[in-house]
Amino acid sequence: MAIILYARKSVERENSISCETQLEHCKSVIKPDERNEKIITFIDNGFSGGNVNRAGFQKMMRLIRKDKVSKVIVYKLDRISRSLLDFVNILQEFKAHKVEFVSSQESFDTSSPYGELIVKILMVFAEFERTSAINRVTQAYAHRSEMGFYMGGRQPYGFELVPTVIHNIKTKKLNPIPSEIDQIRYIFEVYAKENVSLRRLLNILVTENKKPLNGSDWSTAKISTLLKNPIYVKADSDIYDYYDRHGVQMVNDISMFTGEYGARLYGRTKHKPDNLDWSDMKLVLLTHTGIVDSDIWLKCQRKLEKNKRITNSYSNQTSWLAGKIICEKCGHTMTTIKGKINKEGKMRRYFNCTGKSHKKICTGPELSIYAEDLEDMIYDCISEKLSELKGTNSTKTKGNTVEINDLKLKIKAIEKSEKQLMDTILTGAFNSDLLILANQKATQLKKDRLDLYERIKELKSKGTEADNIINFGDLWKNADYNRKKAVAMIMIHKIIISENNSVKIIWNI
Ligand SMILES: [Zn+2]
Repeated sequence: MAIILYARKSVERENSISCETQLEHCKSVIKPDERNEKIITFIDNGFSGGNVNRAGFQKMMRLIRKDKVSKVIVYKLDRISRSLLDFVNILQEFKAHKVEFVSSQESFDTSSPYGELIVKILMVFAEFERTSAINRVTQAYAHRSEMGFYMGGRQPYGFELVPTVIHNIKTKKLNPIPSEIDQIRYIFEVYAKENVSLRRLLNILVTENKKPLNGSDWSTAKISTLLKNPIYVKADSDIYDYYDRHGVQMVNDISMFTGEYGARLYGRTKHKPDNLDWSDMKLVLLTHTGIVDSDIWLKCQRKLEKNKRITNSYSNQTSWLAGKIICEKCGHTMTTIKGKINKEGKMRRYFNCTGKSHKKICTGPELSIYAEDLEDMIYDCISEKLSELKGTNSTKTKGNTVEINDLKLKIKAIEKSEKQLMDTILTGAFNSDLLILANQKATQLKKDRLDLYERIKELKSKGTEADNIINFGDLWKNADYNRKKAVAMIMIHKIIISENNSVKIIWNI
């Protein structure tokens, strides 16, 4: 069995470290008991890491495939490849041939539990690179070409299908029928109002003689299907969040959700009316202009979901932390349920102890655990853990985290002052002169608070810079719902919530 030292230097980077120096570094991590093993070096001088078409690299792989290698040592991980996808595939091949892989600069060793874990996480993101690479290529050609055209199926109410040719492909496009569109807009607007149920909406349409213009009749089922269809919405980032949160696979990048176009939800429907697991579904932007504003459309979805909750109260899997949260008091899992709609018209989800809701044996934590709050907190903890795992620039990121937490506390204090000031103003205790001062003070506080938010944003973006192949910071920052869920599954064993609302994370590492 042999130990391979592999070095690569690309032409484009003049001042990068030479292959000879790389090999010296590799030699320094050979263990004493490995000194008698055969050492073979492979060098690719003047090759980029963008692909694997490198003579030395290919020779090395041939030797590995003959099961003649026990270990590969490199100076840095990106010597193997600059593409995460290639890198993960190569690691898989190393593993299949029982080859250990060590980097002298990063604390990376596949034979350690840490290394194995990192590979698992990298695989989640490599899959991501696979799909986003396809997206990037298409986007480079034409932003719009990524958007779907209406393929088959009956056209939805309000539209007619017209043939069109785009990018030399004959296809069909949805064309709005103005009189039907007016009806649809009216249906959304009425249903978005408080106290209007589907039944009542139906009655309104009947009494106002607003029959479907295609000669059929309305029913609550028909109206409900219509209200759920994203084909009518002007899809913006809120719509992206809504579907992303439900685990739907998003075909387009969030940057394309500009609030102009309608969208289509498609895919195998294991999605039954009372099941919110949409992970088999995909959402693609279409090329027609949407009809309904996203806030009205979302209001309607919240109402429809609320109806559903009566038949299916407690099993909405709408958190990427689902299944990981445990109530310390009774040991039962905590699941997300939907709370009341708050003042801003948003429905907040919170975690509820199933020992409390199903078995009535527990009182659960003292205060509500809001899903967004817990998700944000765990998100930050995972970022920090990932930067530790990488072994590099962790001190810098850690420093940032301390400062960020400090700023968050300052914001909390300002918010408290703002609230106190507001309360005093509302009691009418100030005369008009004092009121002017109070308003000035309020404006100043708000400005301070916004400045602090800016600073946090700045720190967050700084903490994740690195030109390394394993840039967990960037990968995690861009992770969507499904990837967050997958990474949480790998990294976290349990999250325990105590009676007084303290949170304890038990890591898998
Ligand atoms: Zn409990």
